[in-house]
Amino acid sequence: MTDINTIISLCKRRGFIFPGSEIYGGLANSWDYGPLGVELKNNIKQLWWRRFVHERDDMVGIDAALIMNPKVWEASGHLKEFSDPLVECKECHSRFRADQLTENKCPNCGGEFTQPKQFNLMLKTYLGPAEEKANEVYFRPETAQAMFVDFKNVADSMRKRLPFGIAQIGKAFRNEITPGNFIFRMREFEQMEIEYFVREEDWQKYFDHWLGEMRSWLKELGVGDARIHEAEIPDGDRAHYSKRTVDFEYEYPFGQKELYGLAYRTNFDLKNHFPDGAPYRDPESGEEFWPHVIEPTWGVDRSVLVTLLEAYQEDTEKKRVYLKLPPKLAPYKVAVFPLLANKPDLVAKAREIYDTLRKKFPVAWDDRGNVGKRYYAQDEIGTPWCITVDFQSLEDSTVTVRDRDTGEQVRVSVADLDPFISERLV
Ligand SMILES: [Zn+2]
Repeated sequence: MTDINTIISLCKRRGFIFPGSEIYGGLANSWDYGPLGVELKNNIKQLWWRRFVHERDDMVGIDAALIMNPKVWEASGHLKEFSDPLVECKECHSRFRADQLTENKCPNCGGEFTQPKQFNLMLKTYLGPAEEKANEVYFRPETAQAMFVDFKNVADSMRKRLPFGIAQIGKAFRNEITPGNFIFRMREFEQMEIEYFVREEDWQKYFDHWLGEMRSWLKELGVGDARIHEAEIPDGDRAHYSKRTVDFEYEYPFGQKELYGLAYRTNFDLKNHFPDGAPYRDPESGEEFWPHVIEPTWGVDRSVLVTLLEAYQEDTEKKRVYLKLPPKLAPYKVAVFPLLANKPDLVAKAREIYDTLRKKFPVAWDDRGNVGKRYYAQDEIGTPWCITVDFQSLEDSTVTVRDRDTGEQVRVSVADLDPFISERLV
């Protein structure tokens, strides 16, 4: 498997992901998505939204505030339960998560640890000018609670009937004791989450439905089965609200760890947020109750990471590196080159093709160096096709289209370029 540092350096060199605040020495495992990284990430989010919101009758989306009333976190149990055991080295004062240590001495200096204490992972700040207890608020540690808090507003305004889901993509914040492994664990991260509301007796059926949906989603990212493992989380290890949880784990270069999760949260959350009366009324029977919830959760950043890890290819024979991204996820769909940058006719013709195609697709332009070098540069960022305008193009209005994965070239008429690309993006 690819070394994680190979991916980190490619991401930096080619504008996918940079260390956050780098010129100031960085900031505790924060990362910035660069020009190509934001395209890849947006493509993943848009694909998810299209698939799970737009293409379904039983789903609507929301985009809620990052900072919610602290009572939300009281009701959800996060203020009490959302913590990790923290220990500190008595010698060098490094801090660790006690449940992640293999030995009972400091990995840095061999020093002794303090007694573990529970450290709440909620990221705290203050609203308003006074930094006092009454103004304490928290950045949301998950997007989920907004779907519960807004449940009644959504159900009433959209006239949704069970089963239906509420989807959201957005940032969440966790004050992790030890973040790390590139974008795998960050204090600020992004989630794609669905709360799917069902009748209690139907929960197993819809749990299985979402298990299937999560499996097929991985195919969209180009992630094969080989490094994916589904782990049934046993009693006692599950989150406090969950009656069944399946974790999708992936074999990262730094070990097998969580990628996505699917949980049956019962009606725990709705009961806590609506203690005085059921938030749902069946339009036919008039029966009022607290629906049960199936929750599939996808990390956006982890989706980007596994997409990059699976796409990374080294062609030792041709001495090239390429990202075999599914074309629909690639930052640029196509690159356009004039064969020679100093021939105005070639440049003008290439520019015309570039201007036409970019109305429909993200297109790269490159006229530096020789064509071979331009191919390699596009390969490294996963551009599926490179179009070269040569002297024959001026005569018969055809161009060469070179395939990223095979390196093979075909001649395509300029008029056919749009359908050629479009039909390969599905
Ligand atoms: Zn130490």
